[in-house]
Amino acid sequence: MLSVVVPCFNEEQVLEAFNDELHARLDELGEPYEVVFVDDGSTDGTLSLLRAFAFRDPRVRYLSLSRNFGKEAGLLAGLSEATGDHIAIMDADLQHPPALLGKMLDLRREGFDQVVARRSRNHDGPVRTLLSRAYYRLLNHWADVELVDGAGDFRLLSRRAVDALVDLGERNRFSKGLFSWIGFSTVFFDYQDTPRAGGNSKWSYPKLLNYAVDGLVSFNSRPLRLALHLGLLLSGLALTYAVWTVGAVLIGGVTAPGYVTLLVAITGFGGMQMVLLGLIGEYIGRVYYECKQRPHYLVSERQPADVTRPPALR
Ligand code: UDP
Ligand code: MG
Repeated sequence: MLSVVVPCFNEEQVLEAFNDELHARLDELGEPYEVVFVDDGSTDGTLSLLRAFAFRDPRVRYLSLSRNFGKEAGLLAGLSEATGDHIAIMDADLQHPPALLGKMLDLRREGFDQVVARRSRNHDGPVRTLLSRAYYRLLNHWADVELVDGAGDFRLLSRRAVDALVDLGERNRFSKGLFSWIGFSTVFFDYQDTPRAGGNSKWSYPKLLNYAVDGLVSFNSRPLRLALHLGLLLSGLALTYAVWTVGAVLIGGVTAPGYVTLLVAITGFGGMQMVLLGLIGEYIGRVYYECKQRPHYLVSERQPADVTRPPALR
């Protein structure tokens, strides 16, 4: 069976169109399927729409989270709920065309555990494209996982891949990295990106910046090592300079210039220290967050109501 997991947050404008298109394409495939919608604490009519979908069609199920937990949590909720052998993940805004599911299923049947649709960036502005490219280069250089630009959440996964993802207990979920971390045979194919069918993207530049930092510090502590090396380098430079200055004073006597040098050094080092402290803080914050062992999300409503899940995956 095929499961399609769809996280939705305030998608009332596109949900109806998405649901119709999805069912039309899935019916063409002639496979048994289920659709698992996750309402991620929407404040618009999304939940009422989901209730109606589930009422009309027993193949539609939904979970409604108690508040907005973010897409990563919504995704995890949907994945732990899905019961299929093949599990597709899609956005609700029709940016992930349901027409591609057939092709993905074919590739999945060829034995790939992860079939990933990679979008072109032809609808992003030049600034965002440039920033993303630079970011992926940096990330792939630093992190232990390999991330592919444009390869997001639109993918079809095998049962064992989903089980592996759901079993990863970490609270701070950078799913692009987790997909890559679990490994298994993966195949990419390109598709043409389309703009959102309606409503607004939930990503703003500040959110993207936070996401970017998440990616950099989620997979190893190499940035801390970099900080250490930088600290050592700067201490070395400072020491050399100190020796040189003392030498100059011993030879030439005290002359007073150096005011600018001093200021630059103090502010420069101060700034650097703030950055490095902040970096350490990022890691400590993560440890703190993981220690609390809070559930990833809370469910306030579900359909069907009687599904039992392992207690760890609330
Ligand atoms: N989404 C979600 N919770 C959030 C933000 C987004 O479940 O807090 C869902 C959203 O409804 C959509 C998908 O995640 O189905 C992708 O969101 P969006 O289209 O805003 O992201 P973009 O396509 O711009 O990257
Ligand atoms: Mg979108």
